[in-house]
Amino acid sequence: MQIAVASGKGGTGKTLLSTCLMKVLSEYNPVLVDADVEEPNAGLVLKQQVIDTVKVNRLVPEIDLQQCNLCGKCAEICKFNALVVLAHKVLVFNELCHSCGACAYLCPEAAIKEKGHHIGVIEEADIPGYGTLLTGRLTVGEAQSPPLIKATKNKKQAAQLRIIDCPPGTTCAMIESIRDSDYCLLITEPTPFGLHDLELSLEAVGLLGIPGGLVINRWQGQEQELADLSSRTGIPVLARIPFSQELARAYMQGRDPLEAMPALRSILSDIMGQIKEALS
Ligand code: SF4
Ligand code: SF4
Repeated sequence: MQIAVASGKGGTGKTLLSTCLMKVLSEYNPVLVDADVEEPNAGLVLKQQVIDTVKVNRLVPEIDLQQCNLCGKCAEICKFNALVVLAHKVLVFNELCHSCGACAYLCPEAAIKEKGHHIGVIEEADIPGYGTLLTGRLTVGEAQSPPLIKATKNKKQAAQLRIIDCPPGTTCAMIESIRDSDYCLLITEPTPFGLHDLELSLEAVGLLGIPGGLVINRWQGQEQELADLSSRTGIPVLARIPFSQELARAYMQGRDPLEAMPALRSILSDIMGQIKEALS
């Protein structure tokens, strides 16, 4: 089973939820994938010891000017304006290239080869007693995160339980992260901030046909707008994590949130029970 943990905006508690779920469900020896590759932090929370690091490349075009006749077809084909044909050469902008391979396939002179462009690394860490953490870490300045997210998610596919800590928002990165999941948990706060972004995330989850549920973090009794959203969209509110200064303090200090708020364990077990029921 693969459970994605997403949110409309950042800072709502995605990593708190993902890492605590991993701990509560340790009997399944879960794999937690930190797909928030621009700013991964599950490793910090879990105090990871990296045991393996793998480099990840994506393919970008390389022009052989001996073969190229500067016909301009490749620049016409590229929908991302990653190629510019000048009077004496062809410029390739790797940052704009989406690695679709169309230019290499369609060049009439077979003047385009594809070469690897380094985009980041995948770190693997053993979290003793809890499972395995896979972290995608994007190279600073690299604009294309989905290929790294895909490569990170492709590892350890056979695990019985996989939890995906997704990037915030509804970008291509979020879509790549939640893709192929059996269920998507959307964590939010009971404030008007980010409600619009949350609605967009719900829409994305619905378009991909993934069943989903809301988890309200820092709950203090008010939830009218979220209750309205839930009844309008049919996405249930699965749980409310009460606001707790002690929980916030423990999390910031690197202490175990499950010790700071023991009730969290039963809240998470209950979420899992509801997911199993929804999928049965
Ligand atoms: S399509 Fe091929 S031959 Fe034409 S400009 Fe591009 S690389 Fe050169
Ligand atoms: S691989 Fe695709 S996106 Fe990249 S330069 Fe070629 S046509 Fe453009």
